[in-house]
Amino acid sequence: MVLVTGGAGFIGANFVLDWLALHDEPVVNLDKLTYAGNLETLASLQGDARHLFVQGDIGDSELVTRLLTDHRPRAVIHFAAESHVDRSIHGAEDFIQTNILGTFRLLEAVRAHWLGLPEAEKAAFRFLHVSTDEVYGSLSPDAPAFTESHAYEPNSPYSASKAASDHLVRAWHHTHGLPVLTTNCSNNYGPFHFPEKLIPLMIVNALAGKPLPVYGDGMQVRDWLYVKDHCSAIRRVLDAGTVGETYNVGGWNEKPNIEIVRTICALLDELRPRADGASYTTQISHVKDRPGHDRRYAIDARKLEAELGWKPAETFETGIRKTVQWYLDHADWVANVQSGAYRQWVQKQYAAE
Ligand code: NAD
Repeated sequence: MVLVTGGAGFIGANFVLDWLALHDEPVVNLDKLTYAGNLETLASLQGDARHLFVQGDIGDSELVTRLLTDHRPRAVIHFAAESHVDRSIHGAEDFIQTNILGTFRLLEAVRAHWLGLPEAEKAAFRFLHVSTDEVYGSLSPDAPAFTESHAYEPNSPYSASKAASDHLVRAWHHTHGLPVLTTNCSNNYGPFHFPEKLIPLMIVNALAGKPLPVYGDGMQVRDWLYVKDHCSAIRRVLDAGTVGETYNVGGWNEKPNIEIVRTICALLDELRPRADGASYTTQISHVKDRPGHDRRYAIDARKLEAELGWKPAETFETGIRKTVQWYLDHADWVANVQSGAYRQWVQKQYAAE
């Protein structure tokens, strides 16, 4: 049994789906179901006894303690967070609340539980904290990619709150001995991505005939990883990572945003040509840049590759093609997110514990 937090979000849900597709070890899935949590993503697990969904807050110590006591997971895999940079610029309170205070409360509840475990269980227990490359700040064009020893220089309220959570996790290991692992991953893309993020937004807007808004000159460089490769990296770190260590996760796929948008347009031109025969690139529209927008992130994943033998299964070319095809095949999922109908899945599919 493992306890996953934030398992109704983009990466957490992909993780839970892959986990249960690969083996039978049950998952308790604790998610508050903010706007980013979508139970429709987990519809294929309806009636599956290996998946127990619990609607709740990671900051609810009583609930977390009850779940730990009742289910005795061998690991906690912590995805739950407020994750959207733009939202953090307009209001950072929820980010501080969940990413910092929530992680603190979760760590405390887990620590108290872990201390009471018999020695063998205690030694085998793991707390895996899922974090981002954005904690390292912005790179100049010719600087080497971020390694695990790069200084923390977060620039947005989101990355600052994630950096704080990374430090708390580190301290709970150094001070209290909690067996933690941290992963810092580059930008993810793939199925079930909420259409406020760059890649799904561009696909969905393109198909709707809307403008494709590109911040500034579009030359901000991000390093992209197919979400299922991120999930395989997390499983590998959970299985074989050294306690107290941090692992960078990335696919060596640095691309400027404008190139991503052009690639999506080219794939759509091929897979779902516009009725008027024009290219989707005609919908590209440059908009005012985001304040404090980091110019470049790039992840050096050599530690994970060399020490734990992980490598991604997808190249950017194969992953982005699968992603565009997924959005073409799942118009209902997108429509339910856009209309807000996905929220009804809370009532329809699962009852909170
Ligand atoms: P997401 O926003 O899609 O999902 C977050 C999930 O957490 C949602 O289901 C939400 O309901 C839940 N949640 C939020 N606050 C909660 C709370 N207080 N208690 C319980 N559940 C709560 O995010 P994502 O893109 O899936 O990211 C998951 C994790 O991975 C985050 O920690 C993020 O920082 C990290 N990460 C994301 C990326 C990326 O590209 N998306 C890259 C690297 C790391």
